[in-house]
This record gives sequence, C-alpha cells and structure tokens, in this order.
Amino acid sequence: MSCEPIVIGNETVGTICRPSAEWLYRDDVDCPVCGYRAGLLGMYQEWYGSMWTCLACGDQWQDGELLERPFMRGWRWRNVQHALTRLPEARRIGASV
Ligand SMILES: [Zn+2]
Repeated sequence: MSCEPIVIGNETVGTICRPSAEWLYRDDVDCPVCGYRAGLLGMYQEWYGSMWTCLACGDQWQDGELLERPFMRGWRWRNVQHALTRLPEARRIGASV
C-alpha cells in the first residue's frame, strides 16, 4: 500500500492510499466457460484479490466467481485486447523467474 498527502495550497487536507503494485500471472489451463486452452491472464492487487481473464472468450473471474457480463457490444473483444496488451508482463505460473 502506498499513501500520498492531498495538499491544497499550503495545507494538507487528507491522505489518499492505493494498493501497491499489481502482479500479473499467466496460466495455460482450459477455460471453464469456453473450453479453449488459450490461457488465462491473472492480475492480483492488494484489497481486490485476483482477477482472471480468458484470452479466448474474455470472461473474467474475481476470487473464483464469474464476473457479471456487461450489457454492451464488444465487451469480450475489449477484455481480450486489454489482457493481450498486459500479457508480455505476466509470469507463467510455476516459472522460477
Ligand atoms: Zn474462455
């Protein structure tokens, strides 16, 4: 966790805290929804726990629960594209480095 003071003028009026760095993981398992083995991208953040995104269908899970699917066009594509942009930073689960 990191905290920063909120300063207005010369006066500190509060503090804002946010979770520290996130950790990204990749796991090559079958997606429980679509069944493809495209891989899952996992993001862990303090306070929020872990969230996994399927790289094939875009469905997401947070702490083991399937997240609600938004009522808008293209949400699967958007989720997959976002996960693919973060994929190079992810460590494979079980990798030693
Ligand atoms: Zn899937």
